Amino acid sequence: MSKKLLLKDAHIEGIRYFETYRKQGGYTAAEKALKMTPDEILEEVKASGLRGRGGAGFPTGMKWSFLAKPEGVPRHLVVNADESEPGTFKDRYLMEFLPHLLIEGMLISSFCLGSNVSYIYIRGEYSWIPDILEEAIEEAKAAGFLGKNILGTGFDCEIYVQRGGGAYICGEETALLESLEGKRGNPRLKPPFPAVKGLWERPTVVNNVESIAAIVPIIDITGAEYAKIGVGRSTGTKLISACGNINKPGVYEIDMTITVEEFIYSDEYCGGIKDGKKLKACIPGGSSVPIVPANLLLRTVNGEPRYMNYESLADGGFATGTMMGSGGFIVLDEDQCIVEHTMTLARFYHHESCGQCTPCREGTGWMHKILKKIEKGEGKMEDIDLLWDIQRKIEGNTICPLGDAAAWPVAAAIRHFRDEFEWHVKNPELSQTQNYGLAHY
Ligand code: SF4
Repeated sequence: MSKKLLLKDAHIEGIRYFETYRKQGGYTAAEKALKMTPDEILEEVKASGLRGRGGAGFPTGMKWSFLAKPEGVPRHLVVNADESEPGTFKDRYLMEFLPHLLIEGMLISSFCLGSNVSYIYIRGEYSWIPDILEEAIEEAKAAGFLGKNILGTGFDCEIYVQRGGGAYICGEETALLESLEGKRGNPRLKPPFPAVKGLWERPTVVNNVESIAAIVPIIDITGAEYAKIGVGRSTGTKLISACGNINKPGVYEIDMTITVEEFIYSDEYCGGIKDGKKLKACIPGGSSVPIVPANLLLRTVNGEPRYMNYESLADGGFATGTMMGSGGFIVLDEDQCIVEHTMTLARFYHHESCGQCTPCREGTGWMHKILKKIEKGEGKMEDIDLLWDIQRKIEGNTICPLGDAAAWPVAAAIRHFRDEFEWHVKNPELSQTQNYGLAHY
């Protein structure tokens, strides 16, 4: 059984409220941190080996150490709660059931970074959660854990919740900052990076909800102890939101030493494939990461078991492996049609492109059109090569990672499931009445 650090108290009735959270030991990590120096906290975060839980996996301690500290210029912590990646809903779970864990993590992080005004930018569709967060903020303030002169330390901190307008692109940190400033959420060219010029051109750290929540157990048990959980550079625990054709969809906390096979088939986690069907493929890190067929999902190319961690999932590179990403684990059974699935994703990315760069704006639209044509049985063999060519021209040629996120699913689908694309071309009549999966199993 995986060790629980974040969700250990999630089952306790009333844990959403300050009184119950406090009774379970809540805010003791904050009390401990406020007696430390910001540098000591930073050293603990670095020692923990925590990697950003939003998708990129960049070391959090290193990111914090890049924060510029010009004299007299305010600094900010911004929590990225714009969780819009299809298949990902772990941050929603944290905010809905454990809001004080996030607030406590923000207090410690704000103290370390010197942010007196911190923000939570939350996706518009999570319409009921801002009220939960604002209630938790008021409770923390009433108990002296937010506001002026917190616990007599002389440190002031206010937290504000800002609702997004429902654009996926605002999950990209610079688009998020633009939106937080009240502008259209267009990603900025980097450099300068937010650590130097972020919100209102001030030094800013943008971190994912789960990353900030993880600061609480890191301070609680120390960075060194946190680093002992997990394996290699995949330290600590990770939240996985599992969905698709499985028996037990939900949010699970894993310690990154379990195999993918165990995660899918054990009763502790996904409980196996629904209706006893066969596993066809999986997208283990949210819709932006490459899809992996079952044979490569359970074992690496070298025949080693594949583990639920950053290194093992990426083993084999983009040609064979995939990425941990945001931990949005989407399982597809044998009945699913990869072409239809890829077309749905292409439509999503086309809709969500902000339109600033030509390869993304035009390319996502073309990919969707061609996929639609192939899926309907109206495609030609050369359309598959054209699709491949378009995704190659998007990848690496755009301002922000949405371009890559749109290209990778298409590339992986053609690389691993070209036979399904060809089946649609060769069987125009059949493809109009049934999908590849149902026709083949
Ligand atoms: Fe906008 Fe797409 Fe360019 Fe990102 S890659 S800036 S979403 S057009």
